[in-house]
Amino acid sequence: MKQIQPVADLHRHLLGSMTEHFVTTQVEKYTGKDLTAQFNPLQRAFLEGTPFGQKLLRHLATLSPETTAGRFRSFSTLHEFLQCYLASSALVREPEDFSFLIQEAIREAAAEQLSYVEFTVSPTLYLSDAISLPVLVELLEHYCQTSEELAVRWLLDPVRNRGGEAALALLRQILNLSPQALCGVSLAGDERAAPLEEFSGYFRLAKSGGLGTTAHIGEGLEETDFSVALELPLDRIGHGNASILCPMIVDAIVAKEIAYEVCLTSNRKTAAVPDGAPHPVAALWKAGARLTLNTDDPFHFETTLQNEVESFLTETNLSQEAISALNENAMHAAFALTSKPSNT
Ligand SMILES: [Zn+2]
Repeated sequence: MKQIQPVADLHRHLLGSMTEHFVTTQVEKYTGKDLTAQFNPLQRAFLEGTPFGQKLLRHLATLSPETTAGRFRSFSTLHEFLQCYLASSALVREPEDFSFLIQEAIREAAAEQLSYVEFTVSPTLYLSDAISLPVLVELLEHYCQTSEELAVRWLLDPVRNRGGEAALALLRQILNLSPQALCGVSLAGDERAAPLEEFSGYFRLAKSGGLGTTAHIGEGLEETDFSVALELPLDRIGHGNASILCPMIVDAIVAKEIAYEVCLTSNRKTAAVPDGAPHPVAALWKAGARLTLNTDDPFHFETTLQNEVESFLTETNLSQEAISALNENAMHAAFALTSKPSNT
């Protein structure tokens, strides 16, 4: 039967959408410069905290076009991935770097023939003396609004590690800039770094401002307290794998019609779902969960949305018809999609 193409990616980080071309260009531009200088104390401590992170810091002092992309993709745990991700943000130091990153991310999504993408953007990864928040928002708005090949919107991620107060303050600052292409807020980063309840004010402010809401919750298969999540005004859950440990939680998520942002390749490559263990996606499908397929970080995980479709069919043994349902789910769960994409 005719292959059904995926149409929308709702969980795709902007930084994780860099390309080989971006990395090579930036490495050539910055070889010989101290790329660690822009890390703030919290970021530096996150990298210095483990031998793996220390090695990444040393790599940033000796960049090479041949090895840098591979270095950012060599991790075996979720924590190591988060360190690689942070390290790769060092390649963005000036407004023109940030513009280049957005252009490349949109170009790649267009090459995948997607109709709609919500890029999750973590401003604190880029802010510096050279890149102020108004400059960052202006660039995002410009490229989102002028994208012709596909509809592009962005989600704010204040980075969980910085805590709830900082998240709320950042959202207020951004709302004062009245961005038009901002369609929602997310919450990424280390789930253990700050309890979800700290972010109640952040999510409520977003909701009252008409924005969609999502958060990375239960990414790994460890016991996770979903009770707070279920009290927050959340439209979607990023990953949500740990919900499978408690059928009542899955039932509650299904009953509230909260969509799951499933990221299969990401989960395998970070070992959030270890090799050998079945991915919860098959059981969630059977439970009637509203599933969407997403890439998370196509550069770091070397994936595309089409690749995620193939992984999904392998994990679940379902047929192509299921992809239509997933596309419907994505369109329904999208925060700013008002018309049906044309290539369904
Ligand atoms: Zn993510």
